[in-house]
Amino acid sequence: MTPWIRINRFQYSLAFRVIFSTVLLSLGVVWLTGSTLNSQLSDGIKKVKVESSIDETRSAVFNAQYRLFLAEGSSNKVIRQIIQDVVINSSNQIGSAVAGREVALLLTKPLSKNAKNYQTTSKLISITSVPERLRISVRKSDVPQWTNSLIHYTNGNQEPGLIVGKKILIPKIGEYEMYLLFSLQNQTATLDLIHNSLLLTGLVLLSLIGLITWMVVRQVVRPVREAARIAEMFTTGNFDQRMQVESNDELARLGISFNEMAESLQRQILRLENLSRVQQRFVSDVSHELRTPLTTLRMASEVIHSAREEFDPTVARSAELLVAQLDRFERLLEDLLEVSRFDAEVAVLESVTFDISAMIDRCVADLNLVAKERSVEIGITNTDQSVFVEADPRRVERILRNLIYNAIEYADSKPVRITLNQNQNAVAVGVRDHGLGMEEASTYRVFDRFWRADPSRARTRGGTGLGLSIALEDARLHNGELEAWGRPGRGAHFVLTLPKRVGQPIESRLISLKPEDDFSTRP
Ligand code: ADP
Repeated sequence: MTPWIRINRFQYSLAFRVIFSTVLLSLGVVWLTGSTLNSQLSDGIKKVKVESSIDETRSAVFNAQYRLFLAEGSSNKVIRQIIQDVVINSSNQIGSAVAGREVALLLTKPLSKNAKNYQTTSKLISITSVPERLRISVRKSDVPQWTNSLIHYTNGNQEPGLIVGKKILIPKIGEYEMYLLFSLQNQTATLDLIHNSLLLTGLVLLSLIGLITWMVVRQVVRPVREAARIAEMFTTGNFDQRMQVESNDELARLGISFNEMAESLQRQILRLENLSRVQQRFVSDVSHELRTPLTTLRMASEVIHSAREEFDPTVARSAELLVAQLDRFERLLEDLLEVSRFDAEVAVLESVTFDISAMIDRCVADLNLVAKERSVEIGITNTDQSVFVEADPRRVERILRNLIYNAIEYADSKPVRITLNQNQNAVAVGVRDHGLGMEEASTYRVFDRFWRADPSRARTRGGTGLGLSIALEDARLHNGELEAWGRPGRGAHFVLTLPKRVGQPIESRLISLKPEDDFSTRP
């Protein structure tokens, strides 16, 4: 599993997060409890061992001292025999519960120069086992002294041990120290056992906690996951899924509420869909129905229009007005039919590869007359070389014409600039005018159907109020984008971005929406 998937799972899986946090917290608690228990048990065991070893040493030294006092003045042989006995008895006592007990009798100082040296150890241990600092403290004290140290054996082995020592006097011979060296093998084994058992118990406990948490969390998370799954299906348009409600608890209530919400949503959506379908049908039917009488009207009006010379001037003017308004009516009907095609989602792209740069030049040439009438100068940047795109030329031309026509219309006799930019994947066309402009809020509304910044102007010009909304739908049909910028008195800027190949996404904007020639410090 890659680290990313791991992080992802942590971020997005509630169950995983809860289990992870619970196990982590439990690990802390188990660790703390285990180590406290472990240290208390090992302290207790060591303490008992130290106390019993001190007692044993005290009594061994006492017995030895007693026997040595009784043998005061005896021959060297007798004293040596007594010391042998003491060493043997104290180390390997038959039936002694204490295993691995060794003895060392070490000389502190002889009482006379030619006194014999009785320093000895039980056979198995080396004299280096008794550390010097213990010897110093034993010499200074009348009570037994002890330390933990390694016991060295004559065969080279060594093991952890407890060494307890006390002063002893061999009358008339010299001062000695008697040490009992206790092996701690049994205690170490017991402590290892306790340690391992605690570790194992901790691991089992943690696994159990993880398992129990998983089972509990699963019960809670399952309905939540189910709800998420159903909600996701809702977004794809599948409204029939419902949550299963099996119990009577809070989760069941969640399920019931969720299902009720789903039910009501489904009803609302269906109602709205029906309504919208009826409306779309109505618009489409009306537009179709109006076409036939409109054709008849147009034919009749053309007859009247061609004979207008014979009428008196008022009637002739009416004939001209009639033709102009019929033109407008026809355009409106065409736009309405186009809109209803978008709504019914039957609009299709008929893509071919063409030169958009040439298309811009053509549109400008076509609209040049209108521009001249309005004293608007049109400048074009970057159309000197061909830029090929795969798109529906009819739709792209419609967008361009609309943008350029609007720019001329609202330019207020100031120049209009068209810019073309491209990269490997996309092409962008910016149409900039310096005319009336619009409020910032209007830049989003211009794409609404029949929305006009100034409704009174609508009647003075031929626009249907559907141009930009159709342009936006056309752009989106190509996976492209159409955006507007405008400020009152500072003009407007419309930017169309299209992918060079049908269906490709556009990753960046090639022309900044806020025009580079707008130097105002206001946003
Ligand atoms: P129409 O031009 O037929 O009214 P459009 O959809 O083309 O409809 O435009 C909608 C509205 O957007 C226009 O009525 C106008 O208020 C505003 N508009 C469009 N282009 C510009 C522009 N270049 N400058 C200022 N306002 C504009």
